[in-house]
Amino acid sequence: RPNNIKVVDAPDGYGGSGFFATSFEKVIGLARSNSLWPLPFATSCCGIEFMATMGATYDLARFGSERPSFSPRQADMLLVMGTIAKKMAPVLKQVYIQMAEPRWVIAVGACASSGGVFDTYSVLQGIDRIIPVDVYVPGCPPRPEQILDGVMQLQEIVKNEPLRRRDSAEYTALLESYGII
Ligand code: SF4
Repeated sequence: RPNNIKVVDAPDGYGGSGFFATSFEKVIGLARSNSLWPLPFATSCCGIEFMATMGATYDLARFGSERPSFSPRQADMLLVMGTIAKKMAPVLKQVYIQMAEPRWVIAVGACASSGGVFDTYSVLQGIDRIIPVDVYVPGCPPRPEQILDGVMQLQEIVKNEPLRRRDSAEYTALLESYGII
């Protein structure tokens, strides 16, 4: 390094005049976290709030998520919004299985997180009984700001996730515990 280049410490690497050096892992994390493609799995009222979240006022596109996908093959952020009846549970699980790695899940609202007010025989008492969940958004329904906050929390997880997490014994054990692999 030439002596006239002053290197400054930054949280994610080193920078100086006209350059910034960081790790490959950080670059991948940054790219992934700002290009999460949502799959809206909306079964009831919370889905309406997601529509508002996608609209011009709240504008989820600002976070790189302007492209909702209704194909699990082309999405990496599953947003589950609404009451999940036990008859619907195998469908949700199948959708999750069809998503390619890496994939992340947000439980939006009380029903998806815990069954909400529907403490009854026919309703799944939280989607984490059938698939792993990364972020829970409280509310009945959550306001669009809360959904945005959930996405931003997921972005932090994605940004800081080690590249090798998906190959780890811990992650494999998690999927096995859900009967996914
Ligand atoms: Fe509807 Fe409330 Fe359940 Fe959301 S959490 S789906 S608003 S009942």
